[in-house]
Amino acid sequence: MTDRSRQPVLVLGGTSEARALAAALERYGVRVISSLAGRVKKPRLPEGEVRIGGFGGPEGLAAWLRTEGVVAVVDATHPFAERIGASAAGAAEATGVPLLRLERAGWQAGAGDDWRWADSLDDAARMLPELGTRVFLTTGRQGLAAFAHLSDVWFLIRCVDPPDPPLPPRAEVILDRGPYTAEGELALMREHRIDVVVTKDSGGSYTEAKLTAARELGRPVVVVRRPPRPAVTTVGTVADALEWIRSELGTTDQKAR
Ligand code: NAP
Repeated sequence: MTDRSRQPVLVLGGTSEARALAAALERYGVRVISSLAGRVKKPRLPEGEVRIGGFGGPEGLAAWLRTEGVVAVVDATHPFAERIGASAAGAAEATGVPLLRLERAGWQAGAGDDWRWADSLDDAARMLPELGTRVFLTTGRQGLAAFAHLSDVWFLIRCVDPPDPPLPPRAEVILDRGPYTAEGELALMREHRIDVVVTKDSGGSYTEAKLTAARELGRPVVVVRRPPRPAVTTVGTVADALEWIRSELGTTDQKAR
């Protein structure tokens, strides 16, 4: 490793990929600082150094990158975390610090799936009354106000921390976090007589079991499309992110492959 490798790589996190990347960088002796927004009360902490809380927009992030001497940034935040993606792009441009986007692939419908694509949570809410009356709502605790006016629909809302009001008037909240199994999702959906599922196109394996369960039960799924992100160099796997970091650090250490 060169001296430069002790300057940190910043991983913007809050995802399983971000944790896997931080763990791999630690293993290879690359200094990594993971950043979390601080939304979840008891977050799963990545290995290595961690900082928690917003930076104060692109300017705040740019200042932080300079102060810490950050050598590269990997934006491994969730596909629906729009603002931090724009912040990272702005700060990278302002400072010249190289930026990589690590984003898992979206889900693909297969044989037997009945998926309806929605452009937003509001759009999903508009589609619901025609699709069912007992909804499994798995879009997270933010943005549930979009469903608050649907008084003829019953919701099973699942999220990690308690959601903020307003919520739909007929709703049960369960607090849980993945990974989930198809058997567990099937049992949950049967127990609550779910007739339609709403999800973001989060991708990944942690939360995809609900899609398998919906297919087995012949239930429709409303899938909210990912919002657009700034056009930056993007990879889909932790291995490719490691390769990018290795070339940015200019290290000859083959362990960082
Ligand atoms: P967001 O709308 O993009 O972020 C809002 C603000 O929170 C940002 O402007 C930034 O504040 C701060 N922030 C976000 N991610 C941060 C990070 N990793 N480190 C430091 N500050 C961060 O994001 P969000 O949708 O609220 O999501 C928050 C976090 O939860 C993300 O890190 C994401 O990876 C994770 N997450 C989100 C979802 C989802 O569905 N949205 C699902 C699972 C996990 P400043 O402008 O002050 O810097």
